[in-house]
Amino acid sequence: MSAHEQFAEDLALYALGSLEGDERQALETHLDGCAACRRELELLRGDVSLLALTAAGPKPPVRARQRLMSAIAAEPRLPVVVATPPDRSQRSWWPTLAWVAVAALVLACIGLLRQNSALQQNLASLQARFSEQGSKLDQANDVVATLLDPEATKIELVAAGSKPQPRGKAIYQRRNRNLIFIASNLPPLPAEKIYELWLFPANGGAPIAAGLFKPDQRGSATLVNPPLPEGVTAKNFVVTLEPESGSHEAPRGTPVIVGLGEGVGE
Ligand SMILES: [Zn+2]
Repeated sequence: MSAHEQFAEDLALYALGSLEGDERQALETHLDGCAACRRELELLRGDVSLLALTAAGPKPPVRARQRLMSAIAAEPRLPVVVATPPDRSQRSWWPTLAWVAVAALVLACIGLLRQNSALQQNLASLQARFSEQGSKLDQANDVVATLLDPEATKIELVAAGSKPQPRGKAIYQRRNRNLIFIASNLPPLPAEKIYELWLFPANGGAPIAAGLFKPDQRGSATLVNPPLPEGVTAKNFVVTLEPESGSHEAPRGTPVIVGLGEGVGE
């Protein structure tokens, strides 16, 4: 066995930094004077050569291999163990955060969907109410339009065989101060005269002027919402024949038609 062959076995361990003591000293002394062994060491220090040593190939000498294995077994593993966990824990937070964000988004979406559904229900309910109000308003408009239509045929029905008499109907709503008055079969107005409607309050106060009117050729007349004081409860209504300018404080003329309310004294 030449000196080269003897040191060749130690070169691998030396390349791994596992050669100690006298053997290391001897190898280093030999390397100083042997270019061939230095070249061999360079090759061994390459990644490929080191990998070849760890594989179960036929090349590495048995003694060197055994010492290499024991050297590897004796190698402290701590740095390797320490190196991995921070990496892993650092990375593992990102998926967690991503899932939290996704969950938050899903919850937000569910909340929005519920809100949207509630809003749609409210809208549908409002639309239904609006439509209901609208149809009521349409009905009311139809009623008023028919009542007030001068073209509409208005025929008073009376007891069979009796002659048509002057009549009137007052519909009063104290809450809104709304008053609709409809008269029929009124005698034609004498010259410089006018009909005037009076509201008699329930509290016994003075009669309140509720509008002047002239009947049409058939004796029909209508009064809608004349200006009235607030909160007056009506006991009765009376139509009088007044001077053409009307009366304001109290009826001066004679009653033509009188309501069937209480306390009709005039
Ligand atoms: Zn040599």
